[in-house]
Amino acid sequence: MNILVLNCGSSSVKFQLIETSLKQIEKNIDRRLARGILERIGSHSLITMQVEGQPKVRMDAPVRNHRDAIGIIMRWIISSDSKIEEIKSYADIHAVGHRIVHGGEKFSKSVKIDSEIIQGIEDHIELAPLHNPANIKGIRAATEILGETIPQVAVFDTAFHSTMPDTSYLYGLPYPLYRRYKIRRYGFHGTSHRYIAYKYRQEAKIKREQINIISLHLGNGASACAIENGESVDTSMGFTPLEGLLMGTRAGDIDVSILEYLYHKEGLTYAEFDTMLNKRSGLLGISGLTHDMRELLEEEAENGDRRATLAIDIFCKRVRKYIGSYFVEMAGKANAIVFTGGIGENSAIIRERICKGLDSIGLKIDKNKNDALIGGKSGLISTKESKLKAYVFPTNEELLIARDTVRVVEDAPRRW
Ligand code: ADP
Repeated sequence: MNILVLNCGSSSVKFQLIETSLKQIEKNIDRRLARGILERIGSHSLITMQVEGQPKVRMDAPVRNHRDAIGIIMRWIISSDSKIEEIKSYADIHAVGHRIVHGGEKFSKSVKIDSEIIQGIEDHIELAPLHNPANIKGIRAATEILGETIPQVAVFDTAFHSTMPDTSYLYGLPYPLYRRYKIRRYGFHGTSHRYIAYKYRQEAKIKREQINIISLHLGNGASACAIENGESVDTSMGFTPLEGLLMGTRAGDIDVSILEYLYHKEGLTYAEFDTMLNKRSGLLGISGLTHDMRELLEEEAENGDRRATLAIDIFCKRVRKYIGSYFVEMAGKANAIVFTGGIGENSAIIRERICKGLDSIGLKIDKNKNDALIGGKSGLISTKESKLKAYVFPTNEELLIARDTVRVVEDAPRRW
């Protein structure tokens, strides 16, 4: 089947076209046919698309909304310009898989989309006001363009974390707030952490129930996940993606009393707090330079910028703190930590800085192996003697979404 995977953000649409089937999943021979991103919906948009093995195509065009954005992407996919051999018309797209950010407590697995499911996604808009509406727009646009009968599947970012026990997901707040408003930790990046668990299982050649790892998704957004017996038992993002690790522009963990203090000192409004915590904090806030880890590392190396170093050090320390905390939470049962995401996959130096001092919990990094694994390579970076292993696996959320789509459409059980 040719599956179109759509990831609709508030002002962007990412897509991949993946050929897969139950047989291909079994043999691990799914094929990506094309991918791309359309950014800045609502103004003059930038569009980058690429057929596998071909050079990137870049265009710009005024794009008013998600419907237009998906229209442009679909027309390109079937056009003779793209030269995707497998796709000659819309009928050659067999199903659509959507990344849906928030499924709340209702959705613990991927589901086939119908009007009831759309209502369910709408019911969670309050919890993800920027993302869920964009996801719904993506579903509606795909229905309009590909027709009512095209099977569409929702894959939730929160679903993998639905196995967390209440001792992980409840906050130390009055319990009625959970009952009344479902205020709790939901966690995000679930599809990525689930993919990492699957890759680790393949690598270690073990059963799903034997997966005991700490997964570290380190990109612009960053989260850690404790995976015990193959299931998420704790994760660092919370009610929203703001909590936990220090991120590109998000603060991560803070004492919320700071907000009241700042309210009295500077009279900030709620909207200003929100912008500060989500868009002006993290690596950007501390360094005063950039949210981008690669640029910070360059600043540090070339100009010895003190605040660039500070931002990087705080980032690394926070990750280390979560590793330590989850290691203990899992009663020392974790066999490995796994790095993924733009920073985790590409920066050997950050991995090295994070792991400094982790020999106390049995982790020894092999410098040569670590330095060699960048740019999408996958493998072990700890020494042979290391009791706690460390791996790098490039994440592939789109592949998992495509596979879930096939399994749901074919009514086959989910088997990673
Ligand atoms: P997103 O959360 O937006 O998907 P990514 O997973 O693409 O983000 O990660 C982006 C981050 O990865 C940026 O901070 C970027 O600087 C960082 N990154 C990418 N390549 C490197 C590299 N070679 N060295 C250090 N950081 C890198």
